[in-house]
Amino acid sequence: MPLSCPRCRTLNPDVAHYCRQCGLRLEVAGGAVAGAGRIRHPNPLVSAAATTAVAGAAHLHFGWQPVGGGAPLLSTEALELTVFNGGYDLANVVLRVRGDGDAGQPLFAITRDIEMLARGQAASLEIPSYELPGPLHTLHVELVSAEFGAQE
Ligand SMILES: [Zn+2]
Repeated sequence: MPLSCPRCRTLNPDVAHYCRQCGLRLEVAGGAVAGAGRIRHPNPLVSAAATTAVAGAAHLHFGWQPVGGGAPLLSTEALELTVFNGGYDLANVVLRVRGDGDAGQPLFAITRDIEMLARGQAASLEIPSYELPGPLHTLHVELVSAEFGAQE
């Protein structure tokens, strides 16, 4: 059965490792075809501001700080979450964001959407203070789903 490239929709022979049209690597570990956001780019970009890997994603990284910068002082401060895409252009990125407090207790779990996140771009997401019931110690970000974005 021919394999449809998840990025450019070109049909490829089912034994193909790379898309003949756009060069996307079609196969991941276990022989499965990965979706957008999970396929490794041959030349990933890095960001100094977003250094923690997003779980379940290839080349998505995040960093966070209180809105306005500096060290978190009050639990009432809103947080700014920065998500950087060092891989393929993405659209309709859905992320699950979980925060833990100082004692490791779960504080909140929310989902956030990013409409467009091109390669090399960072998106800023604000988590308002009313969603933070206490001081945040650890943030976990996981990729729920994504689509391939516009191609150049
Ligand atoms: Zn392709």
